Amino acid sequence: MRTLLSSLLISATGFVLAPSPADVPLRGFFPQSVQAERDLEARFKTMPEPDRMRESMRRLSARPHHVGSAYDKDNAGWILNQFKSYGWDAHIENFDVLFPTPVERVVELVAPTTFKASLQETALPEDPTSSQQSEQLPSYNAYSIDGDVTGPLVFVNYGVPADYEELEQRGISVKGAIVIAKYGGSWRGIKPKVAAEHGAIGCLIYSDPRDDGYAGGDVFPKGPMRPAQGVQRGSVADMPVYPGDPLTPGVGATKDAKRLTVAQAATITKIPVLPISYGDAQPLLTALGGPIAPAAWRGGLPITYRLGAGPAKVHLRVKSDWSLKTLYDVIARLPGTTEPDQWIVRGNHHDAWVNGAEDPISGLVAELEEARALGALYKQGWRPKRTIIYAAWDGEEPGLLGSTEWAETHADELKAHAVAYVNSDGNGRGFLDVSGSHSLEKFINGVAMDVEDPESGVSAWKRAQAAKILTGSTDVRREARDREDLRIGALGSGSDYSSFIDHLGVASLNLGYGGEDEGGIYHSIYDDFYWYTHFSDTSFVYGRALAQTAGVAVLRLANADLLPFAFTNLAETIQTYVKDLQSLRDRRAEQITERNRQIEDGLFKVASDPRDPVTAPQRQQVAPQLNFAPLLNALDSLNHSASRYDKAYTRAVSEGRTAAAKSVNERLVQAERALTSTEGLKNRPWYVHMLYAPGFYTGYGVKTIPGVREAIEQGEWQDADREIARVAAAVEREASLIGGLATTLAGGS
Ligand SMILES: [Zn+2]
Repeated sequence: MRTLLSSLLISATGFVLAPSPADVPLRGFFPQSVQAERDLEARFKTMPEPDRMRESMRRLSARPHHVGSAYDKDNAGWILNQFKSYGWDAHIENFDVLFPTPVERVVELVAPTTFKASLQETALPEDPTSSQQSEQLPSYNAYSIDGDVTGPLVFVNYGVPADYEELEQRGISVKGAIVIAKYGGSWRGIKPKVAAEHGAIGCLIYSDPRDDGYAGGDVFPKGPMRPAQGVQRGSVADMPVYPGDPLTPGVGATKDAKRLTVAQAATITKIPVLPISYGDAQPLLTALGGPIAPAAWRGGLPITYRLGAGPAKVHLRVKSDWSLKTLYDVIARLPGTTEPDQWIVRGNHHDAWVNGAEDPISGLVAELEEARALGALYKQGWRPKRTIIYAAWDGEEPGLLGSTEWAETHADELKAHAVAYVNSDGNGRGFLDVSGSHSLEKFINGVAMDVEDPESGVSAWKRAQAAKILTGSTDVRREARDREDLRIGALGSGSDYSSFIDHLGVASLNLGYGGEDEGGIYHSIYDDFYWYTHFSDTSFVYGRALAQTAGVAVLRLANADLLPFAFTNLAETIQTYVKDLQSLRDRRAEQITERNRQIEDGLFKVASDPRDPVTAPQRQQVAPQLNFAPLLNALDSLNHSASRYDKAYTRAVSEGRTAAAKSVNERLVQAERALTSTEGLKNRPWYVHMLYAPGFYTGYGVKTIPGVREAIEQGEWQDADREIARVAAAVEREASLIGGLATTLAGGS
């Protein structure tokens, strides 16, 4: 695929990346500033060095470095010294957070045969760090409640709500059972949450070989895919309610913070949960009886996948050490000159589940090279207009702890000063992938056009476009060809941007290269230097591309004459969300009507076992029409303001209107904030953005216009109309803010 794409591009287009001349406009810069900025960026882009990234990765991933470990603290100290040696003003900020670590773990089959799961990942002779057992955190799911349960086993596919509807239709209940779910299909924390809501007493999650094991290629160490004993660790805290320290929601976990008790923390699971390998899962699944699993549920193991319940009976015991652990966030600063109170924030986490070469060190080493390059430019006399803050977060893996506690501690300052947050996490070989605030879509498209893809020599933008055209659906292909800008995704959760976009309303971007770096080592002991340097970005040229992309984004945001936000793409994107919500309402209405008819026709089975009765499915309220008018009216206003702003922007830039730009910049900092609501989302007030949130039942996956979307999905029709009005109010606020800015730029007040 890679070779095909590269040769296709070069032979078909003959297109190579040439430096943009000074007379090509640069978003955010007056004509007289363009040349200096382009020269600066050209110097910057030569500085990040792949060999240094390799050596930094070797050092940072040399030993396990999870929260609370000796090497996590050691790494933080090393990163601090790196920033200082680059000329940055840097310090470490500490927080004390609840981070449970495993004390007891048991999974065993007790009937009809017996089998004890090993719960061990095997050290491999080829892979030197895989044998550091004494420092490795055993495989487990952090924030699983302690428990000791025995019950019949039920296979629940990915364990999302739709899977339980399927089981219900077959008369299978999970009440009093232990469920076994595959990884994938949702964020992992959703699986025990939904299982508990359906009455299960325990939850196992395993990595099926069809998803990231031998079905996709040779397994490690021969190839990159997950070996039989590889386990995906990970947090199962209920992060869609709030991320960060479970004991200090909404405030920083500082020394004297008021803390909840563990029993009061809403984000800890209701039932015990453990992740297992497919090596350990196979005997359990083989022992299942009951109906054969639906075709789409079956995985890649050489067995007949059955649903249960039983006769397989499983014993599960989980116990953790629930003490507080200390976080080490490294925060570094380059002061701005003319606009020191406008902050550009950039971050990547440094903690890992084990050695974490890919996640997160591959992203962190790029960030460090950016910082070294910016520091070198600073030493050579360059000064950013705005203040630049670089962060290396601790505690991302357990629940975005370090970034959340920092953002909560500094919430007021960040709301007043933060212009944008730029995040990365893991990085690999492939195509630039961007998600973020749609007011920055035009901006980041411009950045991607000025960074070279290391394998093809065309721009990162052109290569990402080619990938969309080659692999996308019909709609994606058409849009990639015809739309001026490549569409960026919306942010859900799953990395450190969450607090910035979801809780503070700071415009955010998440950047990374990937798509040709398939593997099955995620959150296992095999995500290490050996794996990364054999199977991912082995020459670190995509690390350099990430440093160039994120670094140029930071430079432009920090130096711009007029901040490079644009709102026509935002308005158009919201329009697609509204259309999508309207058709979602219609689909739900159809589904409910159809299901009600099936119930009347007696199509649903009731459990044959009278000791385990399944409540017969109930008829649901027929879906009412919803009133989208307030939102459509607000969108009209936003469209109008956005195009007025666009025109005023173009004129103000070409005329170099310095005074107007200064006043507009100060108010642009609030543009993303206008899309938030202080009351937040229903049942989860921590999330205040009206356009983006992680799904309550999908986890990482984003729900756009979440208040309305989730009300429709869950049939809460009164809520849906009220939420439409709240979103409309946010869009109106945005429209009036931008309209005001357009007036100022055009020479009004
Ligand atoms: Zn990560």
